[in-house]
Amino acid sequence: MHYKEVKGILSAKNGINLYRGCTHGCIYCDSRSACYRMDHDFEDVEVKRNAPALLEDALRRKRNRCMIGTGAMCDPYLPLEKTELLTRRCLELICRYGFGFSVITKSDLVLRDLDLLKRINEKTKCVVQMTLTTYEEDVCRILEPNVCVTARRAEVLNILRDEGIPTVVWLCPILPFINDTEENLKGILQYCFEAKVKGIICFGMGVTLREGDREYFYKKLDQHFPGMKERYIRTFGNSYSCGSPKHASLMKLFHAECEKQGVLHSPDAVFAYLNGFEDKQSGKQMTLF
Ligand code: SF4
Repeated sequence: MHYKEVKGILSAKNGINLYRGCTHGCIYCDSRSACYRMDHDFEDVEVKRNAPALLEDALRRKRNRCMIGTGAMCDPYLPLEKTELLTRRCLELICRYGFGFSVITKSDLVLRDLDLLKRINEKTKCVVQMTLTTYEEDVCRILEPNVCVTARRAEVLNILRDEGIPTVVWLCPILPFINDTEENLKGILQYCFEAKVKGIICFGMGVTLREGDREYFYKKLDQHFPGMKERYIRTFGNSYSCGSPKHASLMKLFHAECEKQGVLHSPDAVFAYLNGFEDKQSGKQMTLF
């Protein structure tokens, strides 16, 4: 890892990325793609040391409170967060200034901050978004090698349910010929329904690949799934979008099961929920972007 002083931290859409790069090792990771022009190794994580000071300045100057999101480009609960504490310090600020918060993670380290998540959720809204891709643990350890497995993430969702923190699951990516099975989908949905998640985001059954991401993915396929790279090349060529041949039937099952359980399942509906700021103390609710 290395430190960097950055010029700004809060994006126009109220997102923050406190680190750049990631050590969870997901073999399909889009954030590795060349288009992001990272000037350091992906695993040599950039720590934006001045992020809390910049965030405090930005929050103080904001005229309206809103949801602040993190986790879109890298996981804010990397192992180095245990000592760097950037995520925790930013959460303290978000709580102090009365903003809402949503985070995307695959890590059980999010539970360390349960006290702050609960305090934010008492005042406004705090949503934990957890990515689940693979029900079968052995396959999960190959696809996402350096972070807790799906069963543990499901436990985290259950703990959050019991603590009153709303959750959303990202069901993606689903890798053609690897985890695009009905058993995989049903297993993940079972975890979601047990945890009473508010919504599930699924754009389709497939994966996207582009320069930088594709090379790494193919290298890992050669290591763990002999012959699979050739199958991908034969089926998808250089396409960005690599959809599962079972896309239609799996999506039908996904929508039907979520509908039955009363779980939000259209991306628009879930994003509207995630973006809606709630002021529980004055009982107001508003959508700010
Ligand atoms: S957790 Fe996210 S950013 Fe990190 S390697 Fe996995 S997909 Fe990439």
